[in-house]
Amino acid sequence: ASDALDRLIADLGDVPVVTEEKVVRRRSRDFFWYSPILNAQLDGKSADLIALPRDERDVIRIASVCARHRVPITVRGGGTGNYGQAVPLQGGVLLDISGLENIEWIRPGATRVGAGAKMHIIDAAAQAQGWELRMHPSTKRMATIGGFVAGGSGGIGSIAYGGLREPGNILAARVVTVEEEPRVIELRGDAAQKVNRAYGTTGIITALEMPLAPAWKWIDVVVAFDDFMEAARFGYEAALADGIVKKVLSPITWPLPSYFGALKPSCPEGKSVLMAMIAEPSLDSFKSLLGGRGTITLETPTDESPSRVPLYEYCWNHTTLQVLKSDRSVTYLQCLYPHDRVLEKVAEMRELFPDEVLQHLEFIRFGGRVTCSSLPVIRYTNADRLNEIMRLHEERGVFIANPHVYTVEDGSRYKRADADQLGFKHEADPHGLLNPGKMRSFVSARR
Ligand code: FAD
Repeated sequence: ASDALDRLIADLGDVPVVTEEKVVRRRSRDFFWYSPILNAQLDGKSADLIALPRDERDVIRIASVCARHRVPITVRGGGTGNYGQAVPLQGGVLLDISGLENIEWIRPGATRVGAGAKMHIIDAAAQAQGWELRMHPSTKRMATIGGFVAGGSGGIGSIAYGGLREPGNILAARVVTVEEEPRVIELRGDAAQKVNRAYGTTGIITALEMPLAPAWKWIDVVVAFDDFMEAARFGYEAALADGIVKKVLSPITWPLPSYFGALKPSCPEGKSVLMAMIAEPSLDSFKSLLGGRGTITLETPTDESPSRVPLYEYCWNHTTLQVLKSDRSVTYLQCLYPHDRVLEKVAEMRELFPDEVLQHLEFIRFGGRVTCSSLPVIRYTNADRLNEIMRLHEERGVFIANPHVYTVEDGSRYKRADADQLGFKHEADPHGLLNPGKMRSFVSARR
């Protein structure tokens, strides 16, 4: 096996590689350990070497060499995915895309960047010109834009713009195919969806064109409430108030705030909180909508400097992380509430699992309608009970995107691969070498 590896490395020429086993093993992981189920399945899986392309030409070389040697390629961005998306199941090359980090241009309303660019770097560059990314995950300070498009769904900003799936939220993607003679394909408009949340199975993304939103001065706000449903009700009203410019609205049930480290002084004992990012000019309107219903315990400009923790690192899936820091017995779920019965269903789930499912909601737009997704923290007992909790949600009309599975299909709403993605995979990866095992409906005609 090591002879084969040596031949592969020789063919890679001057493309930088890392073969030190300890490093390769460590970089072959992501945040799958949030799930006790994935942790058991994926622990110990590793690539054989890391390749570090410096530009698209290097990516093409790696793709061509791997196609000829029939060696798998798994792309890694920031490695912050939660479902083992970036974990190579069958060894091979871990392609670290972080060298492709150039910002090609920023124009009014759009930017074109290398897929390995970190989202916080893109945002800072855009903000200097009065623009910002429409949305980013709560891992903005670690994650790459390519990893977000290939492995994520939405997040901070989705209350205004919906998720990455909404038409217009990815303008174009440039991908390299994995063939003996790799091709470079520009997917524009709807076609870019062929790589969205496909876990890097449908091509190596080298560049992305993303839409931008006007940049605001954002204010981090925490409001404390006696009762979680009060926080949820007010959050929903603020979500529906189109005149109030916001980026986050996240009601969080007590006792979750008791785990919030540096934020604890703003989280009074026994209170549920609403976390919000509000544009400064909208702050007064936000406060008058609130009236006397809750108490504002924090109001400060969003500060993303390295020594600070911006409020968004307590919501979305960072809530789970904050709890996991001191309690490793919890895990989480990903729920989507029906837009026409949001609060009713939140209350129903709360009654069904009073202590086992600790709710926090993230208000979003989904298909043009205001609803909430939710990544509740679960007090974990065993896999059967976890599956039962998911079933009980779905039976009652709360959709679950299962975060305890590693294939594109099982993690999706419809439990199958998008037809366009599956079709495109036959074009972009005919030998089935890209992140093999993650798109399980793909059967190579060639190999
Ligand atoms: P990686 O983990 O490196 O990769 C993700 C997937 O994309 C992998 O399958 C990888 O193979 C593939 N990939 C990466 N780059 C490329 C490329 N150039 N070409 C082809 N395939 C590629 N996600 C959200 O959507 N919203 C959230 O709010 C959110 N919050 C999170 C909070 C925490 C604490 C954690 C741990 C995770 C969270 N996530 C969230 C998941 C994840 O952080 C994001 O989706 C993030 O954008 C992934 O980016 P990354 O660069 O780390 O990707």
